[in-house]
Amino acid sequence: MKQKDVIIIGGGAAGFFAAINIAVQNPELTIAILEKGKEGLQKVKISGGGRCNVTHAEFIPQELVLNYPRGEKELLGPFHKFMTGDTIAWFEERGVALKIEEDGRMFPESNTSQTIIDCFLNETKKHQVEVLYSQTVKSILKDGDAWSIITQAEEFSAKKILVATGSSPKMWKLLETLDHKIIQPVPSLFTFNINDKRIKDIPGVVAQNVEIQVVGTSLFSEGPLLITHVGMSAPSILKLSAFGALELAALDYKFTIEINFIKMALEDCLEALKGLKLDLAKKSVLKAPQFDLPKRLWQQLVLASKITEETRWADLNKNQLEALAAQLTKAHFNVDGKSTFKDEFVTAGGIDLKEVNFKTFESKLHKNLYFAGEIINIDAITGGFNFQNAWTGAYIASQHISK
Ligand SMILES: Cc1cc2nc3c(=O)[nH]c(=O)nc-3n(C[C@H](O)[C@H](O)[C@H](O)COP(=O)(O)OP(=O)(O)OC[C@H]3O[C@@H](n4cnc5c(N)ncnc54)[C@H](O)[C@@H]3O)c2cc1C
Repeated sequence: MKQKDVIIIGGGAAGFFAAINIAVQNPELTIAILEKGKEGLQKVKISGGGRCNVTHAEFIPQELVLNYPRGEKELLGPFHKFMTGDTIAWFEERGVALKIEEDGRMFPESNTSQTIIDCFLNETKKHQVEVLYSQTVKSILKDGDAWSIITQAEEFSAKKILVATGSSPKMWKLLETLDHKIIQPVPSLFTFNINDKRIKDIPGVVAQNVEIQVVGTSLFSEGPLLITHVGMSAPSILKLSAFGALELAALDYKFTIEINFIKMALEDCLEALKGLKLDLAKKSVLKAPQFDLPKRLWQQLVLASKITEETRWADLNKNQLEALAAQLTKAHFNVDGKSTFKDEFVTAGGIDLKEVNFKTFESKLHKNLYFAGEIINIDAITGGFNFQNAWTGAYIASQHISK
């Protein structure tokens, strides 16, 4: 049996971050990471389309927490101790400069996730953290004051353990044997499948700022909307998928959304269209997009309002004006299924928030058992917030584990 002071289960974002920080804070401790894969940090590698969206340029804890459909309340305290600015400083101190993109997402200046991986691997080496690959943890047992950890290959003993296995159903099952309650996982951060004539031929078109309501629910979001080959994506949709993860799963991903493409009330839009009818009387309705809408989207909405290609503004009758106003401000689309958002996806669910002490990230049920990252029932919208949760939890746990 191999004895260590600290064992980290899971060599992903949270596991590496915790191990390195424990080693920095207390160089006396013997620390090992047990990772089931032949390599670790695989999600970091593919994250952010291979660029790793490390965090988000939001520096106010009260604002930052609003990006977490699950974990909003619980992360407020932790973010006061370690958040975005600390993440940036941490990486900068280790030679990894981060840059901010227009929408607030932060990436390594190198534009490759390999920079983050190299940084972690260098740091573990430098601080003598042992990283043991091909070690799948099969059981975790209490052994007096210590923990016994059994992998398919070996047995380990440690005084303190941190479980950072991300969204691993097997580990959640194992933790149930330690009496932890697991909130059943459902996907979060997905795109909507929509088979609709209006968007069929216009993939790639972006409406810059729309409002979307899931009909029959209070789920609402706003932001950019992207038409894809199979439906719709971009922040307005991804936010709904995250905040509505449970509700949309219960609907089996079959529901209707109402889109306001121009963020205007129907009546105001109708008035504006009447004005255009006078101002642009002799002009073709189809050819001149209005309300800053992309031309191809405008054309689809016009055609869906039973307005033909030849129609001029002056020719529009009351029904056509009303139909166009409805298409612009209350367009209904039927969603039938979901697709994976390739840049980032997470799982809602995990260890019940009530069973974690967010001052230390220690289990409330067992002493010297800690959690960090996606294993806990915390997840965020897209933009670097999921990693920030991993860094924050891992850092705070490291402070207590290293004592
Ligand atoms: C395609 C994709 C892109 C993403 N991009 C971004 C992004 O750009 N920005 C962002 O903020 N978030 C992103 N995310 C989300 C982010 O990757 C996760 O939230 C984050 O990796 C969670 O970290 P973690 O350490 O909790 O889990 P993970 O990074 O998943 O690490 C868990 C580790 O535990 C290991 N493990 C599991 N079970 C066992 C076991 N029994 N024994 C030993 N080891 C085990 C796994 O092999 C894995 O290495 C993305 C996710 C995906 C899928």
